[in-house]
Amino acid sequence: MVKKKNNIEGNCALCGELKKLSFEHVPPAAAFNNSPIFIQGHEHLTDESSYLFGKKMKSNKGFGGYTLCESCNNNTGDWYARDFVSFAHQGMEIINNSKGQYNIKGEYKIKPLNVIKQILTMFMSADKSGHLQSQKDLVEFLMNKDNVGMPEKYKIYLYSTLSSHKRMIGHSIVYDPKLGIQKWSEINFQPFGYLLSEDSVAAHEHMCDISTFGSVEYGKELLVELSTAYLNVETPLIGLYS
Ligand SMILES: [Zn+2]
Repeated sequence: MVKKKNNIEGNCALCGELKKLSFEHVPPAAAFNNSPIFIQGHEHLTDESSYLFGKKMKSNKGFGGYTLCESCNNNTGDWYARDFVSFAHQGMEIINNSKGQYNIKGEYKIKPLNVIKQILTMFMSADKSGHLQSQKDLVEFLMNKDNVGMPEKYKIYLYSTLSSHKRMIGHSIVYDPKLGIQKWSEINFQPFGYLLSEDSVAAHEHMCDISTFGSVEYGKELLVELSTAYLNVETPLIGLYS
């Protein structure tokens, strides 16, 4: 990434083109992501040789980064973001009325395809490895708003959380003692956490599989009943809950 004044150039996390990048909020600012936040990335947590080790970085804009070109940022913003914002607001109301239950049941009036495409766009932004961007079927699914059917090796799992500790973890190959080698990405931001699996299982048995959202027509609104387990996120490690 080349930084000059306010121009940040790099490869867009969605279309892959080398362009001027714009700040992408992950999740969208209107989904409770509009205040300054402290972020710990990979280099702050695991790389002891880095001068950033053990430190954190303040982002005044909220959670996110310079990840998408202006065109991808604008398109996904127009096509998917507001329906995701509505989903997040409904989720917040449901979690606030759940009285501390573990299993949070709620009825959501949402546009499922739009919502899952925004979640996937967030995973594209979180993935610094370039792996997700190299998956042509995934990129095509997102860049054409009307495309239906998420590539089959991917699943998206949902859970409820209000944890202040946030994860924004791109494609990772993880060894889990019980599950073996898993390929996961994870983002959590109140009221939900999202796990993307690639040819892998869920990180927790009570996560709610919402992959079928990817089979609904673009813009079609449905009443969807979801039961999401409340999971606490206290560590930066992917797939670990308390
Ligand atoms: Zn782009």
